[in-house]
Amino acid sequence: MTNTVTFNNFYNVINNEKRVGETTYCGIDPSTGKELWEVPLASEKDLDEAVVAANRAFKKWSSLQQHERSRLITEFASELEKYKDAFTELIFKESGKPTQFAESETIMGINTLRGHAEWSVPDQVLKDTEEVKVVLQHVPIGVVAGITPWNYPFQLAILKIAPALLTGCTIILKPSPFTPYTALKLGEIASQIFPPGVVQVLGGDDNLGPWMTKHPDIAKISFTGSIATGKKIMAAASETLKRVNLELGGNDAAVVTEDFDIPQAAQLVAIASFAHSGQICMATKRVYVHKSVYPEFMTHFTAIVRSFKAGEGFCSPIQNKMQYEKAKSIFADCEENQYKFAVGTGIIPVSEEQSGYFLPPAVIAEPPETSRIVQEEPFGPIIPVLTWSDDEEVIERANNVPTGLGATVYCRDEKRAWRISERLETGSVWVNGGLKLDPVALFGAHKQSGIGGELGPLGLKYYTNTRTITYWKELPRKAEDGGKGGIFA
Ligand code: NAD
Repeated sequence: MTNTVTFNNFYNVINNEKRVGETTYCGIDPSTGKELWEVPLASEKDLDEAVVAANRAFKKWSSLQQHERSRLITEFASELEKYKDAFTELIFKESGKPTQFAESETIMGINTLRGHAEWSVPDQVLKDTEEVKVVLQHVPIGVVAGITPWNYPFQLAILKIAPALLTGCTIILKPSPFTPYTALKLGEIASQIFPPGVVQVLGGDDNLGPWMTKHPDIAKISFTGSIATGKKIMAAASETLKRVNLELGGNDAAVVTEDFDIPQAAQLVAIASFAHSGQICMATKRVYVHKSVYPEFMTHFTAIVRSFKAGEGFCSPIQNKMQYEKAKSIFADCEENQYKFAVGTGIIPVSEEQSGYFLPPAVIAEPPETSRIVQEEPFGPIIPVLTWSDDEEVIERANNVPTGLGATVYCRDEKRAWRISERLETGSVWVNGGLKLDPVALFGAHKQSGIGGELGPLGLKYYTNTRTITYWKELPRKAEDGGKGGIFA
């Protein structure tokens, strides 16, 4: 029997207790610039208490049969489903995401939990002879700290909670200070399902993350966020040799070949670039169109993008002031360098800022490959379109960035599509349609876009240490037989 949860009071959740905290602050609604509800800021003492509770809970939680953990995870999913509309509203309020996107994020998160409940990382018998049996096991790492950004507050929290719990780890989640509300409510609902210390959620300021990464009794950091913070986390984690999962920024290319239906390509690329105003890690951020179809593509693409209006449909506001200024500086850089705005302008009218962090969509036609708009991740509604004429050339240019999160290829010739896809240095490649994450597919990264991965049964392995047990069935009869077969049997 669970208690009804209300969505207008927010608490940290430590050892299944709701804590108000000595210090509080308010998040900002990015659509209005107005303050939202009060939330507690966790102290270092709060974190220490949570770590003690998480380590205590780990002993019992990790020793449960996996089907028992799966059952509770499924129960958690069903409980969250009861609050689907409330979460949709909350995500809309704190992230600025349009309601239909907020709703699909909630559904995706609940399905992600259910999906994980069906997966496992089974033991593997590597060898089984008359003499010896060698078994590889995946054992839970321990206490995980999950640190998340502001763009998908529900789904990204679930992507930490689900694999941690299923594998037998316990988790302390720290949401972004820009979007603390959804995660705190997830923690409150989780406290009604799981034993104390299994799922804890702490809202905090810029101090909390570093306290977590240096804490000696946290075994793993599972982080989603920017490359710059990812590097700091990896450096801090090296002090105690914590395991790290880093899901970082990207600069995803879309490659459009001349055989694709061009109006359709324009439509698909427009959605993949401008949904949630580009504030999606796997959004298309550079478009490479075959020279022979570039004019046709631009006719359709610019018409579609011109129909997008800041604050309407999926063109949400930028979530926070810091990100708004960052994205705006890329608009300004394009303006200063006199790159061609095929849609939009680099000078943002002041009126746009009056009721929230809105940026009008922009398309930059053929800027230099070395420009900021091509080389950096704007995380805003602005996209460069470039041309190419040879497959080898476009593969090289798509790969010529320090990131490697995802890429999309629009190509009808299947052999050619595979040939291009297999040369792209990214964790994911989508062919003929971007922004589609299949939950069974590991979402990983190459280069500076991250380390490790999430989703699919393979994602579970990053929450485990391996242990091999070598069991000799026949005991050596004499001492000199002890090394039978040599050291590397
Ligand atoms: P961010 O790196 O600024 O912050 C992410 C989280 O890290 C926040 O909770 C923040 O409080 C915390 N943090 C900040 N400094 C820290 C430190 N020194 N130690 C520990 N924690 C610290 O990122 P953001 O602006 O919130 O998110 C946007 C970025 O996230 C973009 O680059 C985007 O591409 C990336 N992202 C990646 C994925 C992915 O799956 N690869 C998904 C979503 C977003």
